[in-house]
Amino acid sequence: MPAIDKSQVAELLDEIAILLELKGENVFKSRAYRTAARAIESMPEDLARLVAEDRLDSIAGIGSALRQKITELVTTGRLPYHEELRASFPPGIFDLLQLPGLGPKKVKILHDQLQVSDIDALEAACQDHRVAALAGFGAKTEANLLLGIDQRRHYRGQHRYGDVYALAESLVDDLRQHPDVIRASVAGSLRRGKEVLKDLDLLASSANPAAVMDAFVALPGIERVTNHGETKSSVLFGNGLQCDLRVVSDTEFPYALHHFTGSKEHNVALRQRAIGQGKRLSEWGLFLEPERAKKIEGAELPSGEPTLIVCRTEEEIFADLGLQYVPPELRENLGEIEAAEAGTIPRLVEWTDLKGTFHCHTVASDGRHTLQEMADAAAELGLAYLGIADHSKSSFQANGLSEERLLAQHREIAALNASRDDIRLFTGVECDILKDGVLDFPDEILAACDYVVASVHAGFTAPEEEMTRRVIRAMENPYVTMLGHATGRLLLRREPYAINLEKIIDCAAETGTWIELNANPYRLDMDWRWWRKARDRGVRCVINPDAHGIDDYGYLRVGTQIARKGWLRREDVANTRTLAEITALLQEKRNRR
Ligand SMILES: [Zn+2]
Ligand SMILES: [Zn+2]
Repeated sequence: MPAIDKSQVAELLDEIAILLELKGENVFKSRAYRTAARAIESMPEDLARLVAEDRLDSIAGIGSALRQKITELVTTGRLPYHEELRASFPPGIFDLLQLPGLGPKKVKILHDQLQVSDIDALEAACQDHRVAALAGFGAKTEANLLLGIDQRRHYRGQHRYGDVYALAESLVDDLRQHPDVIRASVAGSLRRGKEVLKDLDLLASSANPAAVMDAFVALPGIERVTNHGETKSSVLFGNGLQCDLRVVSDTEFPYALHHFTGSKEHNVALRQRAIGQGKRLSEWGLFLEPERAKKIEGAELPSGEPTLIVCRTEEEIFADLGLQYVPPELRENLGEIEAAEAGTIPRLVEWTDLKGTFHCHTVASDGRHTLQEMADAAAELGLAYLGIADHSKSSFQANGLSEERLLAQHREIAALNASRDDIRLFTGVECDILKDGVLDFPDEILAACDYVVASVHAGFTAPEEEMTRRVIRAMENPYVTMLGHATGRLLLRREPYAINLEKIIDCAAETGTWIELNANPYRLDMDWRWWRKARDRGVRCVINPDAHGIDDYGYLRVGTQIARKGWLRREDVANTRTLAEITALLQEKRNRR
């Protein structure tokens, strides 16, 4: 049995807290579970060891009843208390909790007063305006709930890249371990770095496909096998993700990998090119058509069959078609084939190019780890510098910092910088862009920071023109180094706010403001479709994890793939610079004034 990790324990404790609220239990009881969840999540020690050595009581915030439950959960992997609690509610209740604006308190009211226990019942109740009539709800809430239900339908069957790639990598690893597998890879939209996927495509080569298929459908974590064929199988994972594995011969592998990576548009364009050269490209191979073969070989081929052009890799397929290799991220038929023909496919940024990052939170606002812990983990990852950007005071829901607390953090950072030379910390702030583009802190406070991330966190419903004006005004401030999450979108959860990115990019170019590529898998904002244009306007990208804990540094990898999808090179990304270079670069905009 795989060991249950800290974040899974924390998640389960949080769920118990919600269930207790749904039951209408005393608030202190659910709060105790939440406190314990936070304590578990942020403790540096190994949880399994702590439990094995019976030292849970050394963690503040965990009482004796909870200690017992956590011990049971960690040692057996199960918690009957949680299972019974969960079973006492209709399953549809949990879907209701996923809707924006519905917390346990409101769900309880809906359940108790309108007997609403699933999404369909809620929709009917909203349409009859029974929800608006409830105390604490109103017509606006009702309209928002209907909107949320609509969006949820629209998002169903889709998955965020960030929720899938770790699973995909472990599946490919498992396949590669199999003695009958020669090569294995992810394919499809995941390989192309699409931010949202419908399913996961895997490809393997083998001389014994049946054995590989049998092993695949038996992998752990699979909820249901929907198709178990000889060369193709499909399985469903618990989160509703469908995963298809195809097995081909090793000769066919490069052609199949190219074909199943897509996109459809790219494949069509490449096939056209092949036809123009008297060749045929398909998932089975790249073939020289007989008439053409005759001309080239100067000899009659006996069967008149097309001849396979042997390519051992995708690189060789592109080369045979007279093209530079096109990295999977660029295969959208958005100019990559023309660029490959001209030999102008750039060397795209790689995540190992990143030397540091900005936009990281600590426990001072809504992060899970201390300044010291964030610095230690970044240093361990090999980063040379780290920018700390906690929330500013208007983000009170995220425990935003007052001027005094921010300046106190600066002193703490100065002391840390004085005491270590493995990593350099920069003082920053994620400063709210308020109504009319006013910043949450006066210029003298912003000037006291090494850099400033400016972000919109409220007033998302403003019309496009107003929002654009608001953000442009903030970017015109000489102390705003970079714009945070440019559209505020949360993938599969919240649509972007209305903003004219064309104008934002122009303003960034004119003012020398960097635009963040927020690498949080929910955001991946600014969207990859805009980066090539921004790059060509001379706008600098900065890949930031928006880290709220040390594990979030891993998002840098996701963000880098999105940057690659946006055609960004190393030189386009500010945080590929060395410490000395970035120190100067952070002053660039300020020196312009
Ligand atoms: Zn933010
Ligand atoms: Zn943030």
